Amino acid sequence: MTSEHLSLQTTDHWPTSAYIHIPFCRRRCFYCDFPISVIGDRKRGETSTSIAEYVTLLCQEIAVTPPGPQPLNTVFFGGGTPSLLSAQQLAQILQTVERQFGLATDAEISIEMDPGTFSLALMQQFKTLGINRVSLGVQSFVDELLQACGRSHTVAEIEQAIAILHQAEISNFGLDLISGLPNQTLEQWHTSLDQAIACGPTHLSTYDLVVEPTTVFGKTYQPGASPLPPEEATAHMYRSAVAKLRAAGYDHYEISNYARSGYTCRHNQVYWQNAPYYGFGMGATSYVHWQRFSRPRTRKDYAHWVQTLIAHHGQLDCETSSNLDCLMETLMMGLRLAVGVPLSTLFTIGGADTVDAILNCLAPFQAQQWVELPTQPDGAIRLTDPDGFLFSNRVLAALWQALDP
Ligand code: SF4
Repeated sequence: MTSEHLSLQTTDHWPTSAYIHIPFCRRRCFYCDFPISVIGDRKRGETSTSIAEYVTLLCQEIAVTPPGPQPLNTVFFGGGTPSLLSAQQLAQILQTVERQFGLATDAEISIEMDPGTFSLALMQQFKTLGINRVSLGVQSFVDELLQACGRSHTVAEIEQAIAILHQAEISNFGLDLISGLPNQTLEQWHTSLDQAIACGPTHLSTYDLVVEPTTVFGKTYQPGASPLPPEEATAHMYRSAVAKLRAAGYDHYEISNYARSGYTCRHNQVYWQNAPYYGFGMGATSYVHWQRFSRPRTRKDYAHWVQTLIAHHGQLDCETSSNLDCLMETLMMGLRLAVGVPLSTLFTIGGADTVDAILNCLAPFQAQQWVELPTQPDGAIRLTDPDGFLFSNRVLAALWQALDP
């Protein structure tokens, strides 16, 4: 690949999106390897010095980060469990963000919340502060599965949480579900999908369980072996989710995500389009000026890193992505979207030879009906739904081999 087409300059590529990591949970779910601290069932923002100290650090990091020319269009509070923050802490973070970067008047401001961790009063306060989108971590509507994966809430608490969202008139909310759990039956999966649809969310995410080696599941179960459902069963769960959610009026716009018309997640589109974003907080990754940077994953190391950042006036050197990195990231993220990756984007990054190499590599997958290739230069490369999405790893592996021999 020649590098004459896209010059990765450090002076452009400013983000208009920010991810803010709140790394506290009541306990650790058995499948989770995220960078979090466990604080138990009784502590939360108002009563935990760990959370208070973390919010101070986070605001210091935000306040020292150089702003771009445009205000932010999206802010996403993820975790962890951001609904453990007090309204005052959320206000402190949002005010720091607004002072430093500005917020567009129609900015999407999302927060991940867990059932059992917030009241109607807190939800109303969050809304007053500008939160206009909620992502509720439900995972399943079957109590025995919730228990078996170490979730800290019950189905009754999910129902209470949904009632609170409706009472607070949060019209834009999404639910997350997991398939492929140990001992999960197809019937239980259908129950969760049906119940989720009945709650009336604007957005639904369905993730297939990934057994990470450092987790309780990783130490208990062998990937691919019982009681984890076999691959054919999880593929069946995926296909049935596509069929059910489409029939219920949701657009399958991303490999794991579905939305009512007009309600796709604007923040996550930034990742899928391989566009720049700020990342703040322990373990968060940012992508600014073509440089990807992951922060330390423990609170102690993160605290030390923030002090170093302050000492360097918010400027730390990190490696700029190569054109090949940029190309692969664009393909990996963009092929997750139903609209696919425009040929023109690939041409800009890699040039005509690279586009030819990609199209040649994908021709056999088109014959298999996993990929749709464009017939016009202004078209896009797409994975088919559901087969292309289901076997996306194989397509990406072939692309990786073809582009980085
Ligand atoms: S609530 Fe989310 S972040 Fe927290 S332990 Fe469970 S999966 Fe991990």
